[in-house]
Amino acid sequence: SKTIGVLDLQGAVSEHIRALKKIGANAVSVKKAEDFDNLDGLIIPGGESTAIGRLIREQKLEERLRSFYSSGKAIFGTCAGLILCSTDESHTTDDLRLGFIDMEVERNGFGRQVASFETALEFAGIDHPVEAVFIRAPYIQSVGLDVKVLATFDDKIVAAEQGNVLVTAHHPELTEDYAVLNYFLKKISQTIKVRES
Ligand code: GLN
Repeated sequence: SKTIGVLDLQGAVSEHIRALKKIGANAVSVKKAEDFDNLDGLIIPGGESTAIGRLIREQKLEERLRSFYSSGKAIFGTCAGLILCSTDESHTTDDLRLGFIDMEVERNGFGRQVASFETALEFAGIDHPVEAVFIRAPYIQSVGLDVKVLATFDDKIVAAEQGNVLVTAHHPELTEDYAVLNYFLKKISQTIKVRES
């Protein structure tokens, strides 16, 4: 089975590990640079993107994250993890933005007040509407030409992928519908094939 790391600095870490185990993956916590070795894929979880970004810098993990990305290994950013994977071409923040996907995001885009909701989300490549939980979620404001949009809600982009990186604004680990996590497992197998060819 595939070994998937969950970046374990802040946020919904144990929820992801629990869900990954349920779908038969070998899920491990990632706290240090050497924890990235031997992973097939990495999840950057939801939580608070400013806090996670600050901890990535404090723990000196930015370079290892970037080399993991450059090696072509699969990365899945959920919610705060999506924010961290975005670019910041308009220079609106000093918070960490890894730029793994060519997209700009609107943080807390669905409003702080009506913060959380659940919906059945049409998702490209998945054969049923996915049970999706949004918690103070961002949306994707704009994407570059090489980005594939996978889902929209209320005319806003909420899931996308580019190369080895997948992002969703919702938390795929919080319901019993593991279709999006299975989609990531499939993506890992594909990226391994690409790297070996
Ligand atoms: N609103 C959070 C942020 O800006 C993200 C929320 C989440 O990950 N559930 O980081």
